[in-house]
Amino acid sequence: MDKMRQFGYLLQSRMAQVLYGRNGFDNMARTSYMTAFVLLVINLFAQNAVIYFLWVALLGYACFRIFSKNISKRYAENQKFMSMTEMPRKYMKLAVLQWRDRATSRYYICKGCHQQIRVPKGKGRIEIRCPKCGERFIKKT
Ligand SMILES: [Zn+2]
Repeated sequence: MDKMRQFGYLLQSRMAQVLYGRNGFDNMARTSYMTAFVLLVINLFAQNAVIYFLWVALLGYACFRIFSKNISKRYAENQKFMSMTEMPRKYMKLAVLQWRDRATSRYYICKGCHQQIRVPKGKGRIEIRCPKCGERFIKKT
């Protein structure tokens, strides 16, 4: 067990050494990497040349980001990526919450400020007031 831990530390410090002065795993690299992994799994069954090409491209792009030395440029790209994907990420998180609490609550996103609002289920038609910006809207729960 001790040997395992030692090996873990060694691996970690090696990683830190390798990634010193490099961009490392940012959100964009992680997304490319994860998407590449999903494509790999899909292609185990699909065996499609286009998917294979996409897999190589995404993996290559992830590596390019991780080992890039132009950190400020990669940072700016990552920020842009995060703001561009803010809404889909919000809706995805919402879908997960919606599913998790499907027995007790419903979730909405305020049209005014995109704040996430949780309301108890089974109240019929109610007026919801956004606690952040005060926008009112009517929903059936
Ligand atoms: Zn609002």
